Order: sequence, then C-alpha cells, then structure tokens
Amino acid sequence: MTMLNSIEARDIAYHLHSYTDARAHQQRGPLVIEKGDGIYVEDASGRRYIEAMAGLWSVAVGFSEPRLVEAATRQMQRLPFYHTFTHKSHGPVVDLAEKLIAMAPVPMSKVYFTNSGSEANDTVLKLLWYRSNALGEPQRKKVISRRRAYHGVTIAAASLTGLPHNHGSFDLPLSQVIHLTCPHFWREAASGEAEEQFVQRLAYELEQTILTEGPETIAAFIGEPLMGAGGVVVPPQGYWAAIQQVLKKYDILLVADEVICGFGRTGRMFGSETYDITPDIMVLSKQLSSSYIPISAVLINEKVFQPIADESNRIGMLGHGFTGSGHPVAAAVALENIKIIEERGLVEKAKNVGTHMQARLRCLNDHPLVGETRGIGLIGAVELLANKETKSPWGKPGALGRLVNRKMEDLGVITRNMGDALAFSPPLIINEAQIDEVFDRLEEALGFAATEIGVN
Ligand code: PMP
Repeated sequence: MTMLNSIEARDIAYHLHSYTDARAHQQRGPLVIEKGDGIYVEDASGRRYIEAMAGLWSVAVGFSEPRLVEAATRQMQRLPFYHTFTHKSHGPVVDLAEKLIAMAPVPMSKVYFTNSGSEANDTVLKLLWYRSNALGEPQRKKVISRRRAYHGVTIAAASLTGLPHNHGSFDLPLSQVIHLTCPHFWREAASGEAEEQFVQRLAYELEQTILTEGPETIAAFIGEPLMGAGGVVVPPQGYWAAIQQVLKKYDILLVADEVICGFGRTGRMFGSETYDITPDIMVLSKQLSSSYIPISAVLINEKVFQPIADESNRIGMLGHGFTGSGHPVAAAVALENIKIIEERGLVEKAKNVGTHMQARLRCLNDHPLVGETRGIGLIGAVELLANKETKSPWGKPGALGRLVNRKMEDLGVITRNMGDALAFSPPLIINEAQIDEVFDRLEEALGFAATEIGVN
C-alpha cells in the first residue's frame, strides 16, 4: 500500500524510531483520522481522541475553527492564487508580512515566505551563504547547530537537524554544519555537575569550536528556543544568555527556529521572549496558520537584509523563491489565525492552562517509570525509563515510550513518543478539565505499563 510506505518513511524521518518500530507500525497499520472537532479528532470507525499533540505541535485554534474555513473560502473566491516574483505582490501577503514584523519581539526588517519549516530553514542557509558572499567573506559558510535539534528534512534543513535517523543513509549532514552538545541537563550533565557548570561547559564548547574552526568561517548559530521533536528539551537556566554572550563576542548571527515555539506554545508569543533571545533571523510555521494550510516565514533583520539586497542589486535579482511563497489563501488563513490567537487571548491561556499542565506533569516525578518531567506553557514531556539510578531504558530505547504511547491511544488520547520521551503539545484552546482528562489517562497508562513490565 503506497500510502503506508509514505507513512513509514515519515515516521522514520521524524522520530527517534528504529526500523523495527516502523515494522511494528506496519503490523498495527495507520490510525486513519477523518474528522476534527475542537481538541478532538475522530478516526474512521468513529472513535474520538483528545489530540494532545495538536497534530504536529501546530493546531493552536483546534480542529474545527470555522473562521479559518471562511477566510480561506473568501480568499479563494477573490484571488485563489498569485505569486510574489518579478515585483508582484497581493494584499494578504503584504498584510501578513507587516503583521509579523509588528509582532516580532526584536526589530526585524523583512519577511520571506515559504511553505514548510524545512523550506524556511533551507532558505535561511541559502540567505546566510548569499550574505557572506555579498560581504566578501566567501569562507563564512559554517552553521553551528545542536545534537537532537530538529530543523526539517530537506538537504540543508536535515543537515541542521541533529538526529541520526535524518542523516544516516541520506549522506547527510552537509560538511558546513557542526553539531554541539544538546542542552539537556538531565541527560547530558557529567556526574556531579551542577546546572550552572553544565551551562558554562556548553558555552565553553561553543567558544572553543568557534576558535578551532576560525570565527571568520562561522555564519550563524541556529537553535529552537526549546527543542521540540528532539524530545522536548527545555534549556537549562542561563543557557541562552551564555550562548548569546559567546555569539556576540565573535559577531556571529543567531537564528531562532520558532516553528514549534512561535505563537504562544511556551506561554509567551514567541520562545525568544520566554528565553530572552535576540535573534537576527526567526523561522515561523505550524501555529502561524494552525497548519490548516501550509505556510512558513523567515524574518530577517536589517543586518542580514542589507548585504543581501546589495548583492541582489549587483546580480540583478535574488534568484530564490517558490511558486507557493506567500500564497494568498495561506496568508489569509494565517492572518485570521493570528487574529483569533490575539482576540481570544490564547497566549495568556497557554500560560495559565500551561501552569496546570506542568503541575500535573510534575506530579509524575515519583512514579517508578518516570526519569524526568519537563516543559513550559503548553509543551511538555515525560521521560520514561526502567531504572532511575542508572537512567537506563526498558529493553531497547524507545520500547517503553512506544508501549505507553500505544496505551494512551487505546485510552483515547493521541500523544507522541520520541524514543522514551512522551510529548504533550495540545491545542492552545484546551482547558484545565481537558488537561486533567489527558493526565488521568496518562496515570492509567503508566500503571498499565508498570504492571506489564513488572515494575512497581
Ligand atoms: N523546525 C522545527 C523546530 C520543527 O519542529 C519542524 C517540524 N516539526 C521543522 C522545522 C520542519 O517543518 P516542516 O515539517 O514543515 O518541514
């Protein structure tokens, strides 16, 4: 079945899943979702699930928002397509660009529209290279990323990604990308190392890497303010301040990949606000349109833009862009989506309901199968294991995560396991009672798993 193959391939690309996992998926077959209703989705047999991942961390306003359907219909009727090549534009894309620049937490100058997070990050790498050439610094092409980062799957984006399954057998990453330590204190700290020392070690690693590679060869550092698909990795206290201090010292650009964090996920409009990050480039997607329609955006500041403008003037054009860049229907849906997020105070709601979700998560800390709970706002994860002292997994890494994830699905809640990290990223419209339902089910699933594997 062709469709099954594509689902498998996506699973392999997206998760920390092994190929054995993909075979297990095949045995069970895909869950075919047919309908959406608020925070719920319904499968082909009419079973309802709480979608506790908002799809792919993306459906901020829930799965049945009529205003987005109306916005798309209106735009389809008025102007279903136009492009942004050769000095053309249209209302929705101009309005959306202006809105995003106005919303940005730090001064930004221009917006480049793309259709996915991967395309956006590919665009980022190309713009960085273009800019370096424009500045007469052709050697400045390297980008520093982190292990377990997720930035997408196209050739450049997959290279920026720091997950082995996105590299192996794909002949990636590109040689210009350097991956440093994942800022996951619980997993990566040396024995006896305090959080502050861990942060200093990572900042030192960054500085040493810059010096070894040559500061003049580094174009940028890219990071998700809080890592999502790598397992919901919350940066330790002081991490971003220490990293930014080093980047500033060597005048290296900072790219914030806000594809998951953007539009309220962490309880502020942008993850950069939550973690006091001052990026030169911001990458947006997912909750930008609640993923009702594909769209992504790259925001660049004047320091990034000006050399690119000069170079394209010299060459005669900026030879980059997609047919669907800034598609009018996608732009209209994104504008309406942002309006809803603002009107309904969904960012504030993410913060308040998020406080409740984080409290429910933390209640699991003493459970014998729980190594760590982490998160902020409406994003979180529970790290599952078999032995708290050795932090060792149950059987093969990911097996326990899969077991609990399956049980959650049986109990009517869609979550997602990335290895043994079970993630939660519900629609921002979720309320406290619904959060309780999710975490009551989680407690039940953990009880089931404990019995199943003989841990009490
Ligand atoms: N960046 C981040 C932080 C992401 O989480 C994702 C998708 N999960 C991407 C980029 C890639 O987006 P897409 O799947 O739309 O290419």
